[in-house]
Amino acid sequence: MDPHHELISSIHDQLKNAGHVLVVSHKRPDGDAIGSLLGIGLALSDAGKDVQMVISDGVPDNFGFLMGSELIKTKPVGNVDYIIVVDSSEIDRTDDVLNGHGTPDLNIDHHKTNTHFAKINLVDMHAAATAEILANYLPFFGLKITSPIANALLAGIVTDTIGFRTTNVNPKTLKLTALLMELGGDLADIYQRTIVDQSLSAARYWGAGLSKLQMENGLIWTTLTLADRDNAGYVYRDDADLIKILSAIDGARIAVIFTEQVGGYVKISWRLCGSLPTDLDVSEIAQEYGGGGHKAAAGADVKGQIQDIMFDVINNTRAMMNPMKTK
Ligand code: 5GP
Ligand code: MN
Repeated sequence: MDPHHELISSIHDQLKNAGHVLVVSHKRPDGDAIGSLLGIGLALSDAGKDVQMVISDGVPDNFGFLMGSELIKTKPVGNVDYIIVVDSSEIDRTDDVLNGHGTPDLNIDHHKTNTHFAKINLVDMHAAATAEILANYLPFFGLKITSPIANALLAGIVTDTIGFRTTNVNPKTLKLTALLMELGGDLADIYQRTIVDQSLSAARYWGAGLSKLQMENGLIWTTLTLADRDNAGYVYRDDADLIKILSAIDGARIAVIFTEQVGGYVKISWRLCGSLPTDLDVSEIAQEYGGGGHKAAAGADVKGQIQDIMFDVINNTRAMMNPMKTK
């Protein structure tokens, strides 16, 4: 029996009775945020619900090809009687879009640092993506996976696993991916558009980050400033996935990127590199800085300037990598 059996049947009943549904995901959205949001949002809409899909930052251009992404708004409006939050370990990750809306009804997520902030929390930290959880459970919620939904969920799985390269990919991930292909998902197209293709501005932004790369004893890091972003013409608040390039560099065990944000914040991203088994868990260090994530990929938003934060973060990350040595 599925360990989530009772939870799934409560979710099924609640969704059946819901009328005006608000589905939200996290700021600086990635493919899993958008794919999961569209997956459940479109399925509920097909089931006759009035659905609003909201992400505070909207949809980056590279995900604009997903059918239904044009329906995603940056703010909710009007009447809502059921709130679903996907791919977000904490409610703060949704920015302020839920202010005044009370406790969310349902939280569907795969982060080990999930705080169980909703009334019902369907959290499976062994799933490679939130989209994988939805691919598994949408039919049990009484919802149909059409071909646009299959493509959205494939985008979530493909991006969160960096094209099936992360160590949390398991046979179930691949079986559900196969199911999504049978239901009309175009894996090659999704892979090309979400993993391979890059905008020129993202490549220029990478160039700025790569020109400042530092590496010492298996720790590799760099910075991306607002000036780098402006010079490159890059319009989003994230690192344009530069972290995946850093993680691929020979000899790197942990990669870190500091991305300057408007308003005096720095977004820090950590990644474990390679596929060898390790006790290292970057979500632990991210939590020390008020963030969270997974064993192999984590992040935090920290108040301050890059040059003031970087020394401390690099030292603490190094101390985590070499617990016997003092800082
Ligand atoms: P990224 O570095 O790509 O932004 O995020 C890596 C992982 O850490 C993702 O699973 C993401 O959801 C999580 N993460 C990133 N930033 C934060 C944050 O500020 N707080 C929390 N709780 N998780 C984060
Ligand atoms: Mn995810």
